[in-house]
Amino acid sequence: MPDYRSYSIPSEHIGRTRVLTSGCRHATTSAQAEAGILALNAARILLTPSPAADRPPLLLDHGGAGGADTAVWQAAADRTPGWEAVCHPAQWSTHVFELPDFAPGSPEQTVNLCPARHRGLDKCAMAGHRRNAAMIALGPRLLLAMPTVSKTRAKKIGRSRGTWGCVDAAVRAGIPTLIVWSPDGGVNTAFRLFWSDEKTDQMIAEHWALRHLYGIEQSESAATAAEPSRSISLAEAAVDVPF
Ligand SMILES: [Zn+2]
Repeated sequence: MPDYRSYSIPSEHIGRTRVLTSGCRHATTSAQAEAGILALNAARILLTPSPAADRPPLLLDHGGAGGADTAVWQAAADRTPGWEAVCHPAQWSTHVFELPDFAPGSPEQTVNLCPARHRGLDKCAMAGHRRNAAMIALGPRLLLAMPTVSKTRAKKIGRSRGTWGCVDAAVRAGIPTLIVWSPDGGVNTAFRLFWSDEKTDQMIAEHWALRHLYGIEQSESAATAAEPSRSISLAEAAVDVPF
């Protein structure tokens, strides 16, 4: 595939701690941008192993789509010290019918091939999924997801589906996953951080700065609908408590 670009890891990014973000393209309000900044602060605290630990710059992987990917996550990284945003645009005009000759250790060795019916089509419907799989294969320590509708509603109205797909793929890959969610986009109800998988639950329950929040406040939400979910206040989780 001569025109297929792989999502390789530049040498300066080897060994760096990565946080993956995925957001709905409709997440464009200022309330969502503010939630993005708080979420990056909470993620940094969550990935700091102790109060005295060093805080090296973190990499923020995003897909470069409109809405939350750029307006929220890029802006949040620009306004929050210690983050370097890395854009991974999907290759919508490229089909992959043969496996490229990937270098050993490439995050795309498990790339999905296009079905034969894609031949002759201008746009590849799998490009977003292929890009998300590559970002997950980069081994992020955490996924921050910002959908604008619940998982159940996403299927019905065809919105935030890519974001929920990324959540499912990350949980399957064993990557701790936090959903930055307010039922009304932050208009009347403050954003909270939600999760439903055991790995994230354990990470927060045992964390030096967040376990007290975990202990005192958890609430159910319609965000993940069918699955039981737990949550903590986003604003409280973003406060760096000195010990
Ligand atoms: Zn295709």
